[in-house]
Amino acid sequence: MGEPKLRLQGVSQVYEGARGETRALQNMDIDVAPGEAVAILGPSGCGKSTSLLIAAGLRVPTQGAAFVDGVRVAEPRLNTALILQDFGLLPWKTVAENAGLGLQIRKTPKRERAERVARALEQVGLADFADAFPAELSGGMRQRLAMARALTCDADLLLMDEPLSALDALLREEMQDMLKRCWCEQGYAQVLVTHSIEEAVYLGQRIVVMSPRPGRVVHVLENAEMQQENWRDNDLFFERCRALREMLRDIVAKEEVAHA
Ligand code: ADP
Ligand code: MG
Repeated sequence: MGEPKLRLQGVSQVYEGARGETRALQNMDIDVAPGEAVAILGPSGCGKSTSLLIAAGLRVPTQGAAFVDGVRVAEPRLNTALILQDFGLLPWKTVAENAGLGLQIRKTPKRERAERVARALEQVGLADFADAFPAELSGGMRQRLAMARALTCDADLLLMDEPLSALDALLREEMQDMLKRCWCEQGYAQVLVTHSIEEAVYLGQRIVVMSPRPGRVVHVLENAEMQQENWRDNDLFFERCRALREMLRDIVAKEEVAHA
C-alpha cells in the first residue's frame, strides 16, 4: 500500500476516572488506504468509539498517534467527516440547515452552501424534506440527513460510529445499501465502527477484529468480495459471518480464562 489515508500507530488510551483508571485501548495499529472501506468490529466497551475520536482529532491519545496523509492529527480536519451514533442533529434547524452545518463551520459562502446541500439531499433521497425539522423525520431519514451532511463536505475520510444501531432490521439493510452506494460513488476512505457482524461483513473490505478492553487488534480479515452484487445473499457472506462469530466467541472465552 502507498501512503495510508489514515494510520493509527501504537495508540493507547487510559481514562482517569473517579474510580481509578480505565485502559480503553492498548497499542492499536490500523492502516486505511485511500478509498478503502474498513470495518472495526469488537464487543461493547472495547474502545471503538475512542479510536474514532482519536482518528477525528477530537481526542489526543495517551500514547501513540493518528496520522492522515502522513500528517499527525492534532485537531479536527476539514475533509474528515464524522457520523456519531445520535447523528448530532440540531432540532431547531431545518433539514437543509442541518445538512449545511459542516459547510457553515467551514465558512463556505451561502450560495455555494445551498447548491451543495441541495445536491447532497438529492443524493440521499431527502430533497422533498429540505424545510422539515428533525423531529418530523423517521429514524431512517435522520440517518440519511447525517449522511447528507457528511457528503456536503467533500470528505476524503468518513468515520462512522455505529450509525445504524438505533434502526430496526429492515431499515438497517436499506441504510447499509445507502452507505455502500455513497462510498462507491464518492470514493472516500471509510471507517465504520460496529458491534454487528453482518454490518461489518456487508460494508468492510477489511474487517478489523478487536479484543475486549483494553482494545487491541486481534484479527484482520480480508473481505474484498463485499463489492459483489447481492453480496448479502452470497454463500461466502454467510461463511464470513460464521467465521467472525466463532472468532469473537474465542476471543471473549480467552479473556475470561485470562481473568479467571
Ligand atoms: P466502545 O465504543 O467500544 O463501546 P468506548 O471507546 O466508548 O468503547 O469506551 C471504552 C472504555 O473507556 C469503556 O470502559 C468506557 O466506559 C471508557 N470511557 C470512554 N470514554 C470515557 C471518558 N471520557 N472518561 C472515562 N472513561 C471513558
Ligand atoms: Mg462506542
